[in-house]
Formats: sequence, C-alpha cells, structure tokens
Amino acid sequence: MTATPEIGMVVVQPTAFCNIACTYCYLPDRSNKHVIAQSTVTRLFEQIFASGWACSEITVIWHAGEPLVVPVSFYREAFATIERMRPTTVHVRHSFQTNGTLIDADWCALFKDWNVGVGVSLDGPRALHDLHRKSRSGKGTFDKTIAGIRCLRDNDVPFHVISVLSHTSLDQPEELLEFYLSEGIDQICFNVEESEGDHVSSLFHGPELRRRYAAFLRTFWHRARQSGRVRFLREIDLALPRMFRPEGVPVRNIQTEPLAMLNVDSHGNVSSFSPELLGLKNADYGDYLLGNINFQSLQEIHDTCIASPLYRDIAAGVEACRSCEYFSVCGGGAPVNKLFENGSLTGTVTSYCTLTQMVPTDLILEAYDRLGRSPAALASAEAALSLPVTGGSPASEPSRIS
Ligand code: SF4
Repeated sequence: MTATPEIGMVVVQPTAFCNIACTYCYLPDRSNKHVIAQSTVTRLFEQIFASGWACSEITVIWHAGEPLVVPVSFYREAFATIERMRPTTVHVRHSFQTNGTLIDADWCALFKDWNVGVGVSLDGPRALHDLHRKSRSGKGTFDKTIAGIRCLRDNDVPFHVISVLSHTSLDQPEELLEFYLSEGIDQICFNVEESEGDHVSSLFHGPELRRRYAAFLRTFWHRARQSGRVRFLREIDLALPRMFRPEGVPVRNIQTEPLAMLNVDSHGNVSSFSPELLGLKNADYGDYLLGNINFQSLQEIHDTCIASPLYRDIAAGVEACRSCEYFSVCGGGAPVNKLFENGSLTGTVTSYCTLTQMVPTDLILEAYDRLGRSPAALASAEAALSLPVTGGSPASEPSRIS
C-alpha cells in the first residue's frame, strides 16, 4: 500500500530548445525546436486537478531548454486556461528559470500580470559568467543577461539569480557579493558545476571541494548578513526551517516521492523524481518515462510509477540513507546525482549531497554553537541566523534546477 501522491511541483518543458550553449549544459535535445501543444497543457492540468492529488499550493516551473524562446502569447493562453480549470482550493504559482537574454518589457508585463516567480541564471560578473555561459557562436552572454536583469529591475519584477560556481568563483565570495549588490541582486542561489548526463564536471570530484565550498559559503553568508542588503540566500534560508522545524514534523523530499514532482516534456512524456532525468536515455529504466499525459490518465501513470524499477531503486536509496546523520534534514538526496555520481540510484553519499545538505547544515550548526545552544537560543535560532532583511523565500521557491 503506497501513500496517495501529493503533487507540489510541476516542471513543464515547453520546448527542449535553448538559444545559447553553456559549456556545462547536459541537455541532449537542446537544438530541437518542438513546442508543447496547448492541448497537452490543458490535458495535464485537467488531470492534475481531477486527481485530487494537488497540494493546496502548486509551483509550475517552466524550464529547460530556454522557456522564453516560446512567445509571451503562448503563456498568456496557457496561464488563462489553467486558471479557468483551477479548483478554488488550489493555488497555482507560475515560475520561470531563464538565461535572461530574451527578457524585455513584454515579458516583464507577463511576469507582473501573473505574479510569476523569475529565476535568472547568472554566474557572476562578466569574467566569471562568460567562462561557461556562451552563445551558440561561442561568445559570452553576460551583456544580454545583465540587460535582462536590469529590465526586470526597471519594471519592478522581483527575481532571484542562480549562479553556477566554478573553480575560479569558489575563491571569490566577496567579489561575487559586491557584484550582486552593485546590480541590486538580493536573492541568490548557488549551484556547483555538477556531473549530469554527458557532462562530467572536473570540479565535482576534486578532493578539496567540500572544504573550499564550506569556506566560500561561510564567507558569503556572513558578509551578506553584515551587508544587510541580501534578502535570501537559498543554501542557508531553505536549510534553516528544515533544521529548526517543530518536533515530530518529518522532512519532505519531493525528489523521492512518486509524482510529488511531476515532470512533463514538450511531447507530453511524463517523469517524476529529479526533473533532470527527463530527456535522458537509460534502457534499464525505460528512459525514466512513466507514460504520456496525452494518452494516459494520471492514475495509470501513478500505477506505472509504483511498479517501476525506477521507483524501487529510488526507494532503496532512501532506505540506505536512513543511517546518515544528515537524513533528518535531507530525506535521502537527489536521485539524479546518485545515478550520475555513483552509477546507481540505490547508493548514498554524493558530492552533491555533501555540498547541498552537509555543508549548509554544518555551517548553521557552527553558527548556532556561537549562539550558545541554550533553549532560548533554540527558540530564536532560525530568526537569529536568517538574513537580516529576509522576507522568507522568494515565492517561486527556487529549486535546485539551474
Ligand atoms: S546527505 Fe547524502 S547520504 Fe545523507 S541522507 Fe542525504 S543523500 Fe543520503
């Protein structure tokens, strides 16, 4: 007997196409210009709402390749359709993860009209950004991305940035902070260049990475707090409530729950768990696909998921993780990283979980120790360790999708 699914996040790939060509991109299909049909979007949300499995808050992330290569008018139609079908008990928040190069006033109008969460992939100042984020002709994309960010600011559209850290940027926490502050960027997320799909990160397997990343994040976090001008640092601000949650409340890891994250490509193919699995090939796991929303019901897709080797092995990996001292904040990690780093979904420790779970937890405990760990300190620890002008997480709740 398995629990009823609770769909909290829907990741839709409106197209696999991307207008640029980052050196670390793992997406195999990024030159394919096929666009999802409006009828597929309609069918998807009909199924979600009819299933009764939708959480009261659903985040819809339009992502991968570059969602802004699809016209504004497409999203206006799709959002209106979803809104017409939405039960009053379910709140839907749309969110885009974009390279920012196509943002203009029309996009800003859409973002404001629909209160869209916006995440821009920006790796720092020009020299860092242009190292990897290149156009299809090999030129740096910094000028276009920063123009998009300035357009968001000029139009009062809130946004966060996701920066992929490289060998070079790990040594520059203060320079990065100074750059963000100079551009009015106050909501920040970091990813470390990972090995995914065909892309092998030289950084990820280095022996010094944990120490270097901890030093980077410690310095960045404390300087950000001192500046009083950073509202949100995902690595810390999402870890805090997981660590200081009320007693007895289990941590959720939606990357390991069947259909909690529903991932749909431009042809209607459905996957679940880590969204990065969608589009990758694997004979043992049927390319990670669980069905197609155009031809199957969500119930059928769920039944397939529960019976699949994919779920069996992800669940085994979560069980293996239970003995980890970080399990109570992590919940068993990210399947895609276990697969690509360890070659198996059933394993445990990865460089990814070391950086995203262990390092932030250790840094928060280190800071908490300085508060004295008294009962009074525990009661106020989350507030004391949050950024001073934090307004909580951005409404788009940036995931680890870059
Ligand atoms: S931190 Fe790593 S080893 Fe520990 S529970 Fe999470 S994924 Fe498993």
